[in-house]
Amino acid sequence: MQNQIAVESDGLGPLAGVVGGGIRGVNDKSACLVENFKPTVYELEVLARHYLEKIRDIEFWERFYRTTGSYQIRMRPFASRRLATIESALGEQRFQNAIASTEEEWNKVFAEAEEIESNLEPCKRCGAQRNYYDYADPHIPDGYCSTCDPASGQADDRCDVKGLQATLTEEEMAAARQWVEQNQRRTETHISRMTGGPDD
Ligand SMILES: [Zn+2]
Repeated sequence: MQNQIAVESDGLGPLAGVVGGGIRGVNDKSACLVENFKPTVYELEVLARHYLEKIRDIEFWERFYRTTGSYQIRMRPFASRRLATIESALGEQRFQNAIASTEEEWNKVFAEAEEIESNLEPCKRCGAQRNYYDYADPHIPDGYCSTCDPASGQADDRCDVKGLQATLTEEEMAAARQWVEQNQRRTETHISRMTGGPDD
């Protein structure tokens, strides 16, 4: 019997014309549901922390490294949807208890990075406000921004908002944006259904 792919994978397959959309556990064979297996409550709690880790890691990357990519634009909605499904199975209180310490850890990580970023001196060469990426990337000389770094500098410019190669045509770019927006809406609908929010 053919195993079904998880509903949370809906719409997250590879995007036509864009390289690199196959994500393990999201849109490949390993995203298939396992028949005749029921997880224990404990297992769901572990999974909740697992998917929360994925989401916060991606958020950190997007917030502080100001970039994203084909992995992030698929894993983030998938993990968010799975989390909502797990929450509906566990119940809100048990779910919140399960993820509380993971949330707290990540809040600390974000706060520390915010703190570092807010204390950075402007770039020695161009005077632009340096960000966390400039500080954390070992390839950027101390005190410089990524634009003034002679070694790289184009890291940020190569990607458009969704981490897709800037060599895409306008049309492909528009299709990619639409794809991302559609999946964002799917995610919101799924979360709202699973967590008892208002249906639209
Ligand atoms: Zn600079």
